[in-house]
Amino acid sequence: MSNQKVPLIQAEHVVKHFPVKGGIIPRNVDSVKAVNDVSLEIYPGETFGLVGESGCGKSTLGNILLGLERPTGGKVLYNGTDVYRCGRAARKKLRQEIQVVFQDPYESLNPRMMVGELVAEGLNIRGGMSGEEKHRRVLDMLEQVGLNPEHYNRYPHEFSGGQRQRIGIARALIVEPKFIICDEPVSALDVSVQAQILNLLSGLQKKYHMTYLFIAHGLNVVKYLSDRIGVMYLGQLVEVADSQELFRSPRHPYTQALLRAIPDVDRVDGRLPETLSGDVPSPLALPEGCLFHPRCGQCTEKCKTVRPELRQVGSTLVRCHLCGGS
Ligand code: SF4
Repeated sequence: MSNQKVPLIQAEHVVKHFPVKGGIIPRNVDSVKAVNDVSLEIYPGETFGLVGESGCGKSTLGNILLGLERPTGGKVLYNGTDVYRCGRAARKKLRQEIQVVFQDPYESLNPRMMVGELVAEGLNIRGGMSGEEKHRRVLDMLEQVGLNPEHYNRYPHEFSGGQRQRIGIARALIVEPKFIICDEPVSALDVSVQAQILNLLSGLQKKYHMTYLFIAHGLNVVKYLSDRIGVMYLGQLVEVADSQELFRSPRHPYTQALLRAIPDVDRVDGRLPETLSGDVPSPLALPEGCLFHPRCGQCTEKCKTVRPELRQVGSTLVRCHLCGGS
């Protein structure tokens, strides 16, 4: 993906700290440092995969890009418009152009509404369309996501997990978005269904030329769809690379550990995949120096005190003292 292109979405030095209250008279006593100075650009038509363990801040960053969670610092630009400092008309446009597909579709679907109503919600908010036109558009969208007209008058509980995710995708797509944040859209699904949903998302992206931010906790899921991948650890990007490059030659020790953790069905020695030792440090008290140093097998004295910057190494951005500069 050429960096000469104009990004569709840009995060510039985004920080998000959640205050922690305490004391008899509640006051801010600490903060959860969920996102710590993240900058990234996502280009039109691209799928950017964002991976990291639970609690690394990837979903918070997704919510910030979505316009749902005002950052503590930094800014988010969508097509050059500041997402958090724009007027009402621009914000309404952004709400249509940026959509989300959630991890748990059941949580996001009102159980008292029929599928047709659920999918039509975005059209109702947008307005300016007759009931007949809306009905036709919803039926068409159900077909696009692999559902059929009989599903229009059914309730969410009548569907399997995979079908409910299809409803979630239809709800997002009905307003013709340009940018979709897929927040772990297959992690709650059976493995046999995951590939179907990934195929569906991939096909729809090509058909409608959409841009995706695809959030997942495992590299094996993002590999399937992503043009580029960003690896997050404790609220920071530690590596950003083209998908193929990242799998061919991962540079950051954390990326290497995530790759070793991928189950390999062809493994003949019967050994389980390697897992990372130690727990992720608390985002309440970030370690000194490199945030990964308490778990890194290659840690040096410098790593314990000096926080590495994200640097260009070849075509990759990497945050590690041991990775040479370009
Ligand atoms: Fe490991 Fe040091 Fe690199 Fe951090 S900077 S990832 S501790 S080698």
